[in-house]
Amino acid sequence: MTNRLANFCAGPATMPTAVLQKAQAEMLDWHNLGVSVMEISHRSADYMELAQQAESNLRKLMNISDDYAVLFLQGGAALQFSAIPLNLMNGGVADYLETGTWSQKAYKEAKRYETLGLGKVNLVASGDASGFTDIPSMEQWQLSDNASYFHYCPNETIHGVQMFDVPKVNAPIVADMSSCILSAPIDVNQFGLIYAGAQKNIGPAGLTLVIVRKDLMEQASAWCPAVMNYKNQFENDSMLNTPSTYAWYLSGLVFEWLIEQGGVEAIAKINQAKANALYQAIDNSDFYHNQVNPQYRSIMNVPFTLANSELDKVFLEKSKEAGLLNLKGHRVVGGMRASIYNAVTLAQVEQLVSFMKEFERQYG
Ligand SMILES: *Cc1c(COP(=O)(O)O)cnc(C)c1O
Repeated sequence: MTNRLANFCAGPATMPTAVLQKAQAEMLDWHNLGVSVMEISHRSADYMELAQQAESNLRKLMNISDDYAVLFLQGGAALQFSAIPLNLMNGGVADYLETGTWSQKAYKEAKRYETLGLGKVNLVASGDASGFTDIPSMEQWQLSDNASYFHYCPNETIHGVQMFDVPKVNAPIVADMSSCILSAPIDVNQFGLIYAGAQKNIGPAGLTLVIVRKDLMEQASAWCPAVMNYKNQFENDSMLNTPSTYAWYLSGLVFEWLIEQGGVEAIAKINQAKANALYQAIDNSDFYHNQVNPQYRSIMNVPFTLANSELDKVFLEKSKEAGLLNLKGHRVVGGMRASIYNAVTLAQVEQLVSFMKEFERQYG
């Protein structure tokens, strides 16, 4: 096999090798058409079939009912920070919970739409005081009555904070699942809208998934651009304009791969084992440290610091030499971060753990 290394990049993140091999094998000639999949019309029968297959596989994996539309859009999760208020605020109050960089960005973006008269944006609570290492307890939340929606980010990719329980609120729940979608089973029916940029746990950058309850698609603002309008996209099979066809294709291959792995339940067990192995290695040492309240430690993104930050550079050099890539932490948090999405194997995490032990023995 080729020299594919263990890649702990937070995003765009590693892809399953089997998926890349399949894409490679059919790169030049897809479905005996004599051209690649990226060179055909998105409206051709062959491509439409691919699109439908990807959607039905995702529906199977996440158990998504017909009450929900599944949209394959562009613009990343960040464009959804605008699309959500434009589609859902509807003159009411939107509640935002702030638990890290991403939910903070979503809140700030929504806030801008107050000036358009779209509605009000209310900050329910913020984990800022804890440096986003903890989730504010629900007793402190300032929820609005009859909010248009409640927005939160179940897994904060940068701070490594994850909320495993869906908040008990009355408003439709909107969740940024960019870095945790398909990592563990969820009940989609508890949500009004789920969105995710593909480049963490699904496929390449350029594709954004939106799973939205159909009755929530009826209230878009007149300000909402056509390509950002959920109902408009739904009625046009997410093809109001040219979609990100190759990213859509690769994501479809990842869905097939996930089904072959035994689905989300099976991958969740492996994810838990990976996270346990890594947190155990951190907790069993005085050299490595993770700051997050253990109750909320992410199973996907594991930030950690070394006892002596002057060793950060050496750690990164030596880990790279050992074939363990992209462990540098986000600049907001510093230190290291291992993103251990679905496509990272348990063996690769064990390789990282052994490296960490050896590094501590040498430098600790
Ligand atoms: C990466 C990320 C984003 C930003 O995604 P883009 O596709 O770059 O816009 C938003 N939210 C979360 C939780 C992320 O991990």
